[in-house]
Amino acid sequence: MFKIKDECGKARTGRLKLRSCTIKTPFFMPVGTKAAVKNLSPEQLKETGTECIIANSFVLSLKPGSKLIQKHGGLHEFMKWKKGIFTDSGGFQAGSKDFLVGISDKGIKFRNPYGGKAELLMPETAKLIQEELGSDVAMALDDMPNPTAPFEKVKQSVIRTNEWAERFIKAKIDKKQLIFGISQGGIYKELREFSAKSINSMDFDGLAIGGLAIGETKRQMFAALSATIAHYGKNKPRYLMGLGSPEDILVAVEQGVDCFDSILPTQNARRATLMTFNGTVHYKTSKYSKDFSPIEEDCDCYACKNFTKAYVCHLLKTYENFGLTLATIHNIRFMQRLMEKIRAAIRAGDYPAFRKEFIKNYKA
Ligand SMILES: [Zn+2]
Repeated sequence: MFKIKDECGKARTGRLKLRSCTIKTPFFMPVGTKAAVKNLSPEQLKETGTECIIANSFVLSLKPGSKLIQKHGGLHEFMKWKKGIFTDSGGFQAGSKDFLVGISDKGIKFRNPYGGKAELLMPETAKLIQEELGSDVAMALDDMPNPTAPFEKVKQSVIRTNEWAERFIKAKIDKKQLIFGISQGGIYKELREFSAKSINSMDFDGLAIGGLAIGETKRQMFAALSATIAHYGKNKPRYLMGLGSPEDILVAVEQGVDCFDSILPTQNARRATLMTFNGTVHYKTSKYSKDFSPIEEDCDCYACKNFTKAYVCHLLKTYENFGLTLATIHNIRFMQRLMEKIRAAIRAGDYPAFRKEFIKNYKA
């Protein structure tokens, strides 16, 4: 299922075999919460080198309903995406005051934004929904506290996350759907270690690190990550949820993380911010309106091969939808090129030098 190929310090490359495809690791997943990556068709997404996306099973269960998608032939068929799909369970939405009613040992009570009805999401229902969707990888339901919440509160959520993880595993019927457990623990080393050991001891196919990159300092984040990874078995893929900044991905890969997802490239595109190996540029305030060169000289994406900075600038300034498409294609291709370069550097055994060089140029 997961095979390590090359190692450079703690960083590693590998292959993750899913039922729809095999993915080269470390890899980056664009976010397609509601079964679409914003502003892209599946063909455009595939052309960016994307091998896997992450959708949100809880959001899809509210609209259009997981049973409808199942009837449609599953999520892959529904959205015409033949490659990998991870589905998140909804634990993250519990952090949103718009959704959350309350959390008990039983599950998470949400207010359905489409109609206001209260819905109870339990580990068992989270698994059932993800099986109905037929994703490649189902994420366990976790109780995600604010990472800097008081120790006792985070401890309670770690204990609950363990109990929910066990219930989630018991609810598994679909043998071909991989399941990933999620550890929590906020910024507390002791809790991170306890949570990592517990989740690692359970029968999961992959191990995720949750509740990070949401407001704590970078120092706290990387300390929590290293406390977790120290107790994660080497032979299972490790997924740091929600981390998307290129500098942070580079540090996490160095610690041995294999899998990432973030809204960053698509959100940046919607804010007219283009990502390049020489840093990010805000196109609405850039001096590019008379620049006839591509967004990035050596980028092989559809936007860079066909259009100029001047054109992309014009589209973004005039709110043309095609501008968002071009910006999204380029930003996602940037992330995938970054991951390709990361894998090549690990393979070549010079990952630390690559990381240093990247940071130097990206910050320049
Ligand atoms: Zn490009």
